[in-house]
Amino acid sequence: MCSISHPFPPGHKGQSTEHPSGSGTYPGGMKTVGVLALQGDVREHLAALVACGVHAVPVRRRAELDAVDALVLPGGESTTMSRLLETFELLEPLRVRIAEGMPAYGSCAGMILLAAEVIDGRPDQRQLGGLDVVVRRNAFGRQVDSFESDLDVTGVEGGPVRAVFIRAPWVEKVGDRVEVLASVPRRMESGDAAGRIVAVRQGMVLATAFHPELTGDGRVHRLFCDMVRGPRPHRAAGRLPDARNAAEGESQ
Ligand code: GLN
Repeated sequence: MCSISHPFPPGHKGQSTEHPSGSGTYPGGMKTVGVLALQGDVREHLAALVACGVHAVPVRRRAELDAVDALVLPGGESTTMSRLLETFELLEPLRVRIAEGMPAYGSCAGMILLAAEVIDGRPDQRQLGGLDVVVRRNAFGRQVDSFESDLDVTGVEGGPVRAVFIRAPWVEKVGDRVEVLASVPRRMESGDAAGRIVAVRQGMVLATAFHPELTGDGRVHRLFCDMVRGPRPHRAAGRLPDARNAAEGESQ
């Protein structure tokens, strides 16, 4: 299990919460974002999602999966999660939801699960698909368990993201429809990792080889939550963003 320091205040359980401005201000209501809770750093992702103002819930069962608008696949161990997805009869339903366009975000082991193909995986490891990429598992080397770097991430404003890699994969190949959002900078200290692709997006699927849920920097989760909410309606100055104005905004 990945854990460095815990970025959230003691006692913060990352449980569901209401939108800070009260419910119903987003067109169509607040989005519910699940975190696959079979194994891994579930609590950290729930807390990061709550901080983005979405309704965040753990997902272990089919009915819980059916109830979410989007899903985060946490860091942890992809081989274990793959096995548990089968045991909990979530593998097929989750593949279907992703294929149908449900927004999904995978960090580290989650990225591995979303990849079309894995190098150095276990032979019985199963893939969810959604990302037309080939990833190399434990790519940064088994000896060097963790590695940190400042990364510029496309779509994340406000300076580089401090990226924490723990027995992380990197992306070896990307398909035409995959947008590369971040690569390890080509610096001396980056060694073999220099230039490797570590954040990608394909349609509504986002993945990072690193763990933004462990650093307290909520910008990658905000990027995902913005994908989940979709484009915001045009808002005329001085008017409340209620459903009526939103509908008018859309027709402009
Ligand atoms: N090496 C792990 C795997 O194969 C991923 C590690 C992580 O999520 N920090 O799933």
